Amino acid sequence: MKTLTENRVYNFSPGPATLPEPVMLRVREEFLNYAGLGASIIEISHRSKEFDAVVDGAIALFRELTLLPSDYSVLFVHGGGRMQFAAVPMNLIGRVASKRALYVETDAFSTNAIQDAAPYGQIDVIASSKQTAFDRIPTLPPVPQDAAYLHITTNNTVYGTRWNRFPETGEVPLVGDSTSEILSRVIDYSRFGMVYAGMQKNLGPSGTAIVVIRKDLLGKPLPYTPPLLNYATLEKNNSMLNTPSTFNIYVAGLVLGWIKEQGGIAAVEGRNNQKAKLLYDCIDGSQFYKGVAQPEHRSAMNVTFKLPSEELTDQFVKKANKEGLYALKGYRSVGGIRASLYNAMPIEGAEALAAFMKDFERAAG
Ligand SMILES: *Cc1c(COP(=O)(O)O)cnc(C)c1O
Repeated sequence: MKTLTENRVYNFSPGPATLPEPVMLRVREEFLNYAGLGASIIEISHRSKEFDAVVDGAIALFRELTLLPSDYSVLFVHGGGRMQFAAVPMNLIGRVASKRALYVETDAFSTNAIQDAAPYGQIDVIASSKQTAFDRIPTLPPVPQDAAYLHITTNNTVYGTRWNRFPETGEVPLVGDSTSEILSRVIDYSRFGMVYAGMQKNLGPSGTAIVVIRKDLLGKPLPYTPPLLNYATLEKNNSMLNTPSTFNIYVAGLVLGWIKEQGGIAAVEGRNNQKAKLLYDCIDGSQFYKGVAQPEHRSAMNVTFKLPSEELTDQFVKKANKEGLYALKGYRSVGGIRASLYNAMPIEGAEALAAFMKDFERAAG
């Protein structure tokens, strides 16, 4: 591993987010001359054998790291996380004649998912934590078995909650938006019909998403589904029906390689828990900071908390920024502080923030 580049901050941005430094250095190193071709990865054909190797290598690494069962396909798709909010119903809701799908509302992104799905069928929100300002994962009623799928957001980026136990859905496929936590903890993919994630939080640059889908769910799209949103068509074309973001897939492949070097997902998860604990311990040991999420539903990726006043919050953000702790301002509708601790955030970054929190409390509290 190379040494740290000078002038890089600890970047707590919710997304696009910090990427592993060795990956960034590797990108820089081979940017003008990929694999000895004398051309950049962004200058060569997506139909070349070199780029085929990039896509196939990234998918193979994803399968290896997640122990993905063989009856699932892995796709790279355009449009980031949100494009899937429409693509999911377009591909899956036609599985039942009633075109009924179930959603759980847990955050701003799940609300968008519900809105974007509405034109395509009967969208029923079977549970919501809106009443308690999204501070928890709600309890689910028994899942109606006549639905095409149940959609959840496995980690809620804005309020900082996550599903620690995934719901029992019987025969109804579970669909998870894991944009803000993909590859951050060990997940049994066989519990899901589909998992998707925009790349820009744990996997690479923005604008592309990864889709993991059980093969029997492919091939029943609504009639007007565009080819570029049709998962079966994309699968047949190895995610290259048209030109994909070749750069994004290349970076994702490097990030997957980095996760493997770190010891795999379980090892990364252990460090993620350590990082989150540093901050949650700080919050729990203080009268000054107040956590936004209920302790049993806390996210390891997005740590949210409030200070006694907006003025102190502003001071906290500004002072932290001066000390190289970047992008800590909470989401506009929540306020307070949000520290995003994605895979690439080193433990030292969480330690530095915890120390800063203690100092700030001592000076202000
Ligand atoms: C960031 C995020 C999105 C949106 O991703 P885009 O690529 O900007 O569309 C969707 N869902 C969740 C859970 C997110 O955190």
